[in-house]
Amino acid sequence: MYNLRVTGTEKVFQVGKVVCLGRNYSEHIRELGNEVPDRPVIFIKPATSIIGQSEKIVIPSYSRDCHHEVELAVLIGKTGKNISEDQAMEHVAGYGVAIDLTLRDVQSELKAKGLPWEVAKGFDTSCPLSGFVASDQVGNPHDLGIRLAVNGELRQDSTTACMMRRIPQMIREISAVFTLEEGDIILTGTPAGVGAIKSGDRLSAQIDGVGTLEVSVE
Ligand code: MG
Repeated sequence: MYNLRVTGTEKVFQVGKVVCLGRNYSEHIRELGNEVPDRPVIFIKPATSIIGQSEKIVIPSYSRDCHHEVELAVLIGKTGKNISEDQAMEHVAGYGVAIDLTLRDVQSELKAKGLPWEVAKGFDTSCPLSGFVASDQVGNPHDLGIRLAVNGELRQDSTTACMMRRIPQMIREISAVFTLEEGDIILTGTPAGVGAIKSGDRLSAQIDGVGTLEVSVE
């Protein structure tokens, strides 16, 4: 179970599920040699995958290639199903910084066989999250600088303006499949520059106007 609060508020959100969008930035699609999807690529990380600020990532022993993917995290504040794009933003309580850790070697093997990705994406510690800020404190969530550095070296440096699917569209499409409950989180995809991390590395992720997230690898 993972509980979080929006900075400056008292309400506690219990995270139920983390719904993630794949292939949402075109330069990242290109760097992995994937095709631009016409339908959204959606997968789920269980709440047990979440760690907080300053906690440690534990790379599972069955992988030799764990990648960082910095992503804007959207906190759902109001439960809904079949949410329209017009109403979507009313369901957003806040924003945070997330890292979608991915066992790229394991994922590639699963992809090639047409198998599900959870083993590569949903392992314990695979979802570091920052604190959250209220949505009304963030100007335009589709125009935020987003960066990730490993041991002080900048690896990912982009803007959420490059997201192909915007938040209202994601919420409409996701909520047509899964009821989005209060406390659920959406990860909105990663820009280019993903790469491997190893034991001892320090990761520092940042989204302008949202916050920073610092974690390290055990
Ligand atoms: Mg991702």
